[in-house]
Amino acid sequence: MIAGYVLEVACASLVNRTIGTAECFFWEVNIKDRMTGVLAGMAAGDALGAGYEFGPALPDDEAVAMRGGGVFNWAPGEWTDDTSMAVPIGRALARGDDLAAPATLGLIVDEWAVWAQTAPDVGNQTRAVLGMLATQGSSEDDARRAAEAVHRSQGQSAGNGSLMRTAPVALGYLDDPAGLASVARRVSDLTHFDPEAGDACVLWCLAIRRAVVDGEHSLRDGLSALPAARQSLWASRIDVAEASQPRDFEHNGWVVEALQGAWSAITHGSSLVDVLSRAVRGGNDTDTVAAIAGGLAGAYYGVGGVPSAWREVLHGWPGLDFGGLVELAGAAALGGAPRR
Ligand SMILES: [Mg+2]
Repeated sequence: MIAGYVLEVACASLVNRTIGTAECFFWEVNIKDRMTGVLAGMAAGDALGAGYEFGPALPDDEAVAMRGGGVFNWAPGEWTDDTSMAVPIGRALARGDDLAAPATLGLIVDEWAVWAQTAPDVGNQTRAVLGMLATQGSSEDDARRAAEAVHRSQGQSAGNGSLMRTAPVALGYLDDPAGLASVARRVSDLTHFDPEAGDACVLWCLAIRRAVVDGEHSLRDGLSALPAARQSLWASRIDVAEASQPRDFEHNGWVVEALQGAWSAITHGSSLVDVLSRAVRGGNDTDTVAAIAGGLAGAYYGVGGVPSAWREVLHGWPGLDFGGLVELAGAAALGGAPRR
């Protein structure tokens, strides 16, 4: 069902160009694999890193296992807050809701607030913001005001908590990079007032879009979508990431080093499993760096890069498994198209 729709969407809408039937069939297989790889790769990285969270960097030759455990005693294959916070974004897109509509962003904040009531691992900054909001009926402006208040009280708000959940935003804007840049920042701003968090989400979402549509790694393409005053700074950060290893970014709770660690893992990795293992070996916020890396690497390598042993155990809030995530990613990509 979804495959047919994705074929139609891919050929008629997403590419925004005329292509022949034979090319369309060939291309459909690849883009479907890459679309669904976004959430699957993210969840795989999240669950892989969960058992190593807050641990030290690991040697290059140490195997990384989907073992669960960690400080929150996760089950093997269970994803954490990173993927859980991405799910309401994917669901909104799957419903055909417009992420640029304030009402849609309010519904996402409501879902986060409900999830946070029982989740064991809500990040400090996100918990502070959601704690200032009602569990139902919050608006985009309510969330932005709360995020700013937390920023003022804590003196900073450039944690990695908005970047970790940003991947599904790209699925709704595969044919609209300008719209994607705008919405990625607005979704980040719901909890993270610091514009560097928004910058990171813009760069990452544009890279995911490019990986899905063109099958290419490209983080620098998004630089032009950032404010001019910060473009060269981010360009130099990307240079440093490519010349370093994930373990070199030990302050990866900061959105900048989380992005650098994830990009380092991607640029040095040779497969989805290799990328995610490199991200986890970087240590500290392992689940989040691997979830960030997995959103983009999953788009690049496609859902086929997720090993069958991982597919069998992946699961998490709100009662989804691997198949449910794949279906959600396809529906999110499909649901983003009709509104345009
Ligand atoms: Mg986490």
